[in-house]
Amino acid sequence: MTLRVDVVTIFPDYLAPLELSLIGKAQRDGLLEVHVHDLRDWTHDRHRTVDDTPYGGGAGMVMRPEPWGEALDEVCRALPGRTPHLVVPGPGGDRFTQEVAYRLATEDDWLVFLCGRYEGIDERVYEEFSARYPLSVLSLGDYVLNGGEVAVLAMTEAIARLVPGVIGNAASLVEESHTGGLLEYPVYTKPPVWRDHEVPPVLLSGHHGAIAEWRDQQRLERTARRRPDLLEAYEAQQRRGADDAT
Ligand code: SAM
Repeated sequence: MTLRVDVVTIFPDYLAPLELSLIGKAQRDGLLEVHVHDLRDWTHDRHRTVDDTPYGGGAGMVMRPEPWGEALDEVCRALPGRTPHLVVPGPGGDRFTQEVAYRLATEDDWLVFLCGRYEGIDERVYEEFSARYPLSVLSLGDYVLNGGEVAVLAMTEAIARLVPGVIGNAASLVEESHTGGLLEYPVYTKPPVWRDHEVPPVLLSGHHGAIAEWRDQQRLERTARRRPDLLEAYEAQQRRGADDAT
């Protein structure tokens, strides 16, 4: 399957890193297709204006609905017979998590990202297009960025690496942080001693059972220390699983 990603932005150059590394390779391998569009191509005035002052007053500018309307009318019709899932990055959206990334990577084959700037996009654009397509507002975290482009880079990378074939060794996705509810265990490579810091001896023992046990323990300890909220959810899920089995 090829995942198609369209990005509408006023800063197309911001998306250039998607050509690099594994995500760039995924594009060259035909697993991912990225199309970046300049929102200003759908303006009709000399200054290519995309923003205006907010109704009701207040600070900042708001993105006008007309260029967004024309852009999305055209972009969302690029693949006749297929329905895009519109994704609008925004600090007021649902939290973008590994679970959401997995759903978008496996249940959708076409994502259209809308990159907001200034105080955001006129609300009527959401009304218009959520009536026509699935539309999700997703937040990268509880902080405010200047625009949606950085969020699109992060989201596209997190989603695309879950598309089958993008990560060469699919096993490396299985024990990762946020897969299965816990954080990943600490990892080490050569040399066995570096500046008096030793690799835990169990990892050099060649004893696969003991290594697996040590790693499980480390995942629990690390999650308890850094993300007690995740551990609580994990333990609740384990209890539910045990109840269901009885
Ligand atoms: N006035 C908006 C608010 O308070 O909710 C913030 C607008 S922000 C300055 C401009 C754009 O940055 C947003 O439209 C969105 O595209 C993007 N953005 C900012 N923070 C984000 C976050 N945490 N996650 C995803 N996108 C974000």
